[in-house]
Amino acid sequence: MNLNQLFSECKGCKACHLRYDAATQVVPWETGDNPEIMFVSEAPGMQEDKTGLPYQGAAGKLFTKMVTALGYKRGEDLHVTNIVKCRPSKNRTPTYDERHVCANKWLLREIFSVNPKIIICLGLASGQFLLDKPDTKMKELHGTIYTKTLMYPNIPGDKLAGTEKRFQIGVTYHPSYIIYNGYSPAVKRLIWNDVTSILDNVGVKYTSRNQHT
Ligand code: SF4
Repeated sequence: MNLNQLFSECKGCKACHLRYDAATQVVPWETGDNPEIMFVSEAPGMQEDKTGLPYQGAAGKLFTKMVTALGYKRGEDLHVTNIVKCRPSKNRTPTYDERHVCANKWLLREIFSVNPKIIICLGLASGQFLLDKPDTKMKELHGTIYTKTLMYPNIPGDKLAGTEKRFQIGVTYHPSYIIYNGYSPAVKRLIWNDVTSILDNVGVKYTSRNQHT
């Protein structure tokens, strides 16, 4: 199944209770033309649920500003997505079980289909989950590259079922952390340094080396 088919199927998903909780629609992902970079965040919020698009609202704007400063265009150069595709009520962090259910249904297939050179997790929920380090703190995870073997879900009849592949994964703070810290330039710089260091380490080019402020 190609990514477009997967998107259409995902859009109609009703596989878990999150679809019937606060969500009005499924928010699958935004992609580009063979993107080398995949950003993975936690879950859609109110604006994402309203528009059907990932990474909207104030944190989405900060994300867009950062990737624009790196010389990327959303919808062309990047794949942006969440572990969980339906908005949890009160914007709570999805539980580990909820992440597991949705990722096995969509995210892992998405990752194998996009085959990115680097996956950058935005925030602890996606970093802990994809690296399978549920008790590790952000202080220890961020800015480092990990090589992680991921397994394609066991979907009957799917030729990739159960296959394994190694992916490069890095982690940084979610852009909302900038907002929680009063739009602190130091936090912006921290995220910028994490992302550029991760990209440098895997040899993915970006066009600006100016510090994101
Ligand atoms: S959260 Fe994921 S698994 Fe649950 S209904 Fe939405 S898309 Fe389907």
